[in-house]
Amino acid sequence: ALNVLLIGVGQCGNRILDEINKQAFGGGRLSKYFGRQKFPSNVKTVAINTSRNDLKELEYTKAKDRLHITHLHGVGANREEGKKVYEKNKDSIFKKLEEDDHYDLCFIISSTGGGTGSSFSPPLAQDLKEKYDFQVHSISVLPFRSEGTIFLQNTAFTLRELSDSGLDSIILVDNEFLRKGKDEDIHSAYSRINQMVAERMLFLLKALDSEMMLVTDLGDFKTVMDSGNMFATIGFCNAGENMRVESAIKKSLSPNGLLFDSNIFNEASRAMVTIQGEKDSLDMDGITRIIDKLSDEIGHVFKGVVVTDSNPRVLSVVSLDSSEELDDVFDKAVEAVEIEKKKKELQEENDEVFSKIDGMEPEY
Ligand code: GDP
Repeated sequence: ALNVLLIGVGQCGNRILDEINKQAFGGGRLSKYFGRQKFPSNVKTVAINTSRNDLKELEYTKAKDRLHITHLHGVGANREEGKKVYEKNKDSIFKKLEEDDHYDLCFIISSTGGGTGSSFSPPLAQDLKEKYDFQVHSISVLPFRSEGTIFLQNTAFTLRELSDSGLDSIILVDNEFLRKGKDEDIHSAYSRINQMVAERMLFLLKALDSEMMLVTDLGDFKTVMDSGNMFATIGFCNAGENMRVESAIKKSLSPNGLLFDSNIFNEASRAMVTIQGEKDSLDMDGITRIIDKLSDEIGHVFKGVVVTDSNPRVLSVVSLDSSEELDDVFDKAVEAVEIEKKKKELQEENDEVFSKIDGMEPEY
């Protein structure tokens, strides 16, 4: 069995981690598949936050798996502040992570737009990679584009620092892309998106940690993630009763299944497709045909099949060579930095106004 370390940092990371714990152990609707006994890997979850209230909100993450970093009321969205807080506290963070001493695989989950998660994740990834030789991947949640300039500029710098940190891949989840129109209330959007991420994560661990024939493993995952530009995303499709497995594979790789907007035929580098389902529902020739076709179109595709007692479900991990959507995020971030810079200049001008009365006292 694999030893897996899942770290959720900041509010977004904590909540997704909590949802993973819920679905794995807490009586969520998938617990019958991922209940404690059936869960293949040894998973340690750790929720880290500077905000005690965010940690208190968690329902399915054990108290011993939470680490509060004292810093008044969080770090706001200030990443410079956040990075200092990380440096000051990294010994206590590592003490917590090292309560178990051996891991094969680690995921760091956080948003890119906020403060704590976005500023802790890059140096944490770097420290883990320098100290150990297990794979470290980030699950990075991009903001709604309407959330403002600070979140956008944080996103661009966080992604750059993550990509410089030495980690193995940056798996993108995009709130904006996953929102169901402008009418969806933000809290329902969060819980729906968190459920989608958790469902895929648990499936992925199962896909990497099965002892059956024809399975994908940690080596395949690494080969997929090693290619391309470090960025990746995950697709999923639950075929239900009436969908053929081939259609489910295609759907998992379409905008309907992916967590980040990408046209995989132009942008994918490699992929790993894992299919789960009842033996009789899996048409192996059909599966082989479509995987071969995908390999021709996008590059190497690893294939795995896990026999379970559920309807066919497909998980696709895709590494990217390029991304139009990410280019757009960076263009928006450049605009955001410009806007913030102008605001700061304006503020300095205002400060100058006051300097006109420096050294003076009011006369009556
Ligand atoms: P931090 O606690 O300082 O790391 O800040 P947050 O994690 O709250 O960062 C804010 C960003 O995370 C915004 O872009 C939010 O839209 C996003 N976010 C916050 N909570 C959630 C959540 O539960 N799910 C999702 N998908 N996004 C979230």
